[in-house]
Amino acid sequence: MKVLVINAGSSSLKYQLINPETGEIFAIGLCDRIGIENSKLEYEVPSKDFELELKEDLPTHKVALEKVLAAILHTEHGVISSIDEIDAVGHRLVHGGEEFAHSTLITADVMESIKQNIELAPLHNPANIMGIETIMELMPGKPNVAVFDTAFHQTMPKEAYMYALPYEDYTELKVRKYGFHGTSHLFVSTTMNEIMGNPKESKIIVCHLGNGASISAVKNGKSVDTSMGLTPLQGLMMGTRCGDIDPAAVLFIKGKRGLTDSEMDARLNKKSGILGIFGKSSDCRDMENAIKDGDERAKLAEAMFIYKIKSYIGAYAAAMGGVDAICFTGGIGENSATMREGAVKGLEYMGVKLDTAVNSVRNKGNVKLSAEDSKVLIYKIPTNEELVIARDTNAIVNKK
Ligand code: AMP
Repeated sequence: MKVLVINAGSSSLKYQLINPETGEIFAIGLCDRIGIENSKLEYEVPSKDFELELKEDLPTHKVALEKVLAAILHTEHGVISSIDEIDAVGHRLVHGGEEFAHSTLITADVMESIKQNIELAPLHNPANIMGIETIMELMPGKPNVAVFDTAFHQTMPKEAYMYALPYEDYTELKVRKYGFHGTSHLFVSTTMNEIMGNPKESKIIVCHLGNGASISAVKNGKSVDTSMGLTPLQGLMMGTRCGDIDPAAVLFIKGKRGLTDSEMDARLNKKSGILGIFGKSSDCRDMENAIKDGDERAKLAEAMFIYKIKSYIGAYAAAMGGVDAICFTGGIGENSATMREGAVKGLEYMGVKLDTAVNSVRNKGNVKLSAEDSKVLIYKIPTNEELVIARDTNAIVNKK
């Protein structure tokens, strides 16, 4: 079984050809700067340590996908000899609204519903749709499956996902908390459950910390709360996104600075977070290096980032009536010992005790970071969203 996993963004497209049963990656890569100058195609065959970076003209997603297929089918560095060897295509969809609580085979009706959710994710869903339509054009008849970032969080109870706005904003405009990074929260919490021996009852907090960052509370395998909201702007402080702020501040800043809606939107989504406070970069590594040089704003950005994570850990432990395990994932969660240490420091009263020596060593794979006498497990678990997409695609296509 070979599944092609597609994650199409507005100007980029990530892909993997993957065996959903074993997780083996046959080929992996990225089309970057689609529709912009200096676009390129990255292609890698991990089993052969083969890497290629080609400066390619990629004016559209269609051209990008054609080049991806050409690379995968290439007589020398390709990994398959015919398109027929691809059994199905799994697509990452950012927003499934309330319609999609599970991954689904893409039919004409499903496509229509996905299009109706465009206004909930105007930046992401159109690019995702473009990816699906292009695959349908290039590989007619191939089963396509949609895997939604929001689906895992559809189990949240109403008191967790409702905003205290006039009720008709929910019924008429669908304004509520949806949550994102669902495939990652699902993968990491499932892995953690397996490590714990699949107990009947479990309370897990997953901290997905990357450029985008979110936390979820997963009780008995179900998401019961998460930090992102109607859009991926709510919650934690992120690379360039502000996370939780007083909504009145938005109107205040917009009015005082005379900004348009889209300028204000860009200020909150692209100029805030680590970038907004540190001022020089949105990248965690740049911030950590600047701290070593004594940069005060970098120190403040890091302290704010950590404080927010800790606040959510406390809130979700309270919401679930305790916590058995705290997991870190994402570029920052998997790699920054400082962030992990900061996030759990001071939580000893909750039974959370980090092994700081183990935490500071960089080890691959799933790593236990809690001290032996910690009541709460702390783990680093590398996320694998593509594998979730491939597994769901396989399950749905084979059930058909
Ligand atoms: P992601 O969006 O999951 O790819 O994560 C990107 C973030 O991870 C960026 O802020 C990077 O600076 C951060 N990151 C990656 N490697 C490291 C590292 N070794 N130490 C600290 N942060 C890192």
